[in-house]
Amino acid sequence: MTRRTITILGATGSVGRSTLDLVARNRDRYRIVALTAHKDVAGLAEAAKASDAEQAVISDPTLLGALQDALSGTGIQAAAGEAAVDDAAASGADWTMAAIVGTAGLRPVMRALERGGTVALANKEALVSAGALMTGAARASGATLLPVDSEHNAVFQCLVQARPESVRRIILTASGGPFRTWPMERMRTATAKEAVAHPNWSMGAKISVDSATLMNKGLELIEAFHLFPVGADAIEVVVHPQSVVHSLVEYVDGSVLAQLGPPDMRVPIAYCLAWPERIETPCARLDLVAIGALDFEAPDLDRFPALALARHALCQGGAKPAILNAANEIGVASFLESGLGFLDIASVVGTVLDQYDPPAPSSIDEVVEIDREARRVAAEVTGKILN
Ligand code: NAD
Ligand code: MG
Repeated sequence: MTRRTITILGATGSVGRSTLDLVARNRDRYRIVALTAHKDVAGLAEAAKASDAEQAVISDPTLLGALQDALSGTGIQAAAGEAAVDDAAASGADWTMAAIVGTAGLRPVMRALERGGTVALANKEALVSAGALMTGAARASGATLLPVDSEHNAVFQCLVQARPESVRRIILTASGGPFRTWPMERMRTATAKEAVAHPNWSMGAKISVDSATLMNKGLELIEAFHLFPVGADAIEVVVHPQSVVHSLVEYVDGSVLAQLGPPDMRVPIAYCLAWPERIETPCARLDLVAIGALDFEAPDLDRFPALALARHALCQGGAKPAILNAANEIGVASFLESGLGFLDIASVVGTVLDQYDPPAPSSIDEVVEIDREARRVAAEVTGKILN
């Protein structure tokens, strides 16, 4: 059997490492072409050696020497800089994992989609900011876009062989995050440590904060809109604290299909990796008796306004989703690093959406430009709150 070639963009992150774990367990099926990371030279070099990768790429160009040193004598090629990451994305692997966090992944994801092959997409921010351009590029090249995000992967599994006209509704589940039951006053003074302590999933810091504000679900709403052929009105969000039901699809006859599983990203990643087949994973098996009961509740849009902002941005369309995402990235970074209040993250996003209203982007360059300007405005708004 010829092994499928794999490139992992964002190999040192939470999703990247889970992907490498599955590849390591299935060496007879998969072979690594390229791994990329931002600044973690040691983590990247270690992963490249362990997986016998052909190439390792660090996006920070000042770290080329350090990467070359770390890889000396291994025969693994070292490269650095954003253009090298873009080239790795377009290197023509059979399967590419897009697991860079944030709009830093925009150009690499686009390059991978334009090149064709299969792109497993975890990097939801890229799809939120440039959804129509990305799905258009996939259609033009014949690339297969597979959703890694657990909710979208669940919907994808529930849609197998479905006709679009037979789908009535998509229901995305949300854990509700660590502050699901907190009163507003307590949320106001929530710390970064409290926000990243997700009750069910172990993830990178940015998406953990997004889960605490419910912006993650807002981004996922926009993500679902681009991935699945139903209108925005047909996509709903339900809070489900156990994170056992990963999402559901309702059909016109009243049947509702759900995908369930343990809260381990290796399950949806494995589905994308082996698709249309399935491979074994070492994940804990679902024990329904031990779980006992599954709860569902409506999201509280007063305490979690980010979800409403995202739906509004989706309905407005044009540049708004890209602005929402960029302002959120700045808000989250300021919360994690500069002491911005937890509730201020959504306020910053709302203010930037009101203040900045450019025309809809028609190319990735224009999305990048809108992203840059929205970040500048967001930094200004954040600065005013902090001073
Ligand atoms: P992470 O922070 O753990 O890892 C991010 C990766 O991106 C790292 O390899 C890092 O080196 C790289 N990176 C960061 N900034 C970069 C830059 N400027 N240029 C190039 N590379 C850069 O993040 P994660 O939790 O693995 O999430 C990755 C993506 O997957 C995010 O878009 C997230 O929303 C999505 N996602 C994650 C999970 C999860 O369980 N972690 C679940 C669903 C979706
Ligand atoms: Mg998700």
